[in-house]
Amino acid sequence: MAADMVVRLEQGLWRDGSCFASGRVRALIGEDEALLADLGLAAVPAVRITALVAAACRIDGFGNLTPNDARLLSIGDRERFLIALYRANFGEQLDAVAQCPANACGETVEFELATECLLAPHEKAIEPADGAIPPPLTREVALDTERGTWQVRFRVPNGSDQELAARAALSDTAKAADLVLERCVAEVIDANGQPLTVDDWRPQLREPLSATFSELDAQANMSYALRCPVCDAGFAAVVDAGTFLLRELASRHGIFAEVDQLARAYHWSEAEILALPVARRRRYLAMVAGGG
Ligand SMILES: [Zn+2]
Repeated sequence: MAADMVVRLEQGLWRDGSCFASGRVRALIGEDEALLADLGLAAVPAVRITALVAAACRIDGFGNLTPNDARLLSIGDRERFLIALYRANFGEQLDAVAQCPANACGETVEFELATECLLAPHEKAIEPADGAIPPPLTREVALDTERGTWQVRFRVPNGSDQELAARAALSDTAKAADLVLERCVAEVIDANGQPLTVDDWRPQLREPLSATFSELDAQANMSYALRCPVCDAGFAAVVDAGTFLLRELASRHGIFAEVDQLARAYHWSEAEILALPVARRRRYLAMVAGGG
């Protein structure tokens, strides 16, 4: 098991004007699963991911992460951590399914994927070339609109946006996307140097800004090119590591039932069982189930 896998972050985490961009993940243990179980079924995946990243990931020079630090990471950097957690704990291969989007087809396409393929190339690393340190996660871009070129000051979406959007999306996905835009944009100045209100800029900037987000934080929107074996249509399947990781960790009978089973069989304490790496605990469970 490749524990302590190194993760290169794209946006990094900022503190006191410095950027920390090299992270590590550790082997997942029963305690991590108990943490997820304690959040309850009502917790949206983004909230579970925050808990998991804070518990099992750290950043060199920064130390352990609090849930709030995990929320400040960009969505792409959280995803980089999740991919590393998956690789370190469950190996280099994912079994995924996607639905063919072609009309009148809709075939369920199963595919295998090397976890390595999930990593976006590092292209936008933020190492200030001239020694100037940019303010934490604030960027400026000129975007062309029907009403001229506007200057937009913004940051890329982070874990807290992801959590709020996930909750909002339970009732209205379009509203959830708008909520993220509103939170991430600090200021929009039109071609005449006048600041614009949210209602004024939003319809014009929805598309160009999401394209800008994807370009700057590519890991947040990784898709995988597939071809449907039935109708031969080519399409892109969105693959996010969080879904696979949470699925692996949702143990069949629940972590507490497994603790109960092992405690009865081996007379270990709850703390001892929860400290076992996930894969190790599952081997003992298989032995108990096999009667050997
Ligand atoms: Zn098809």
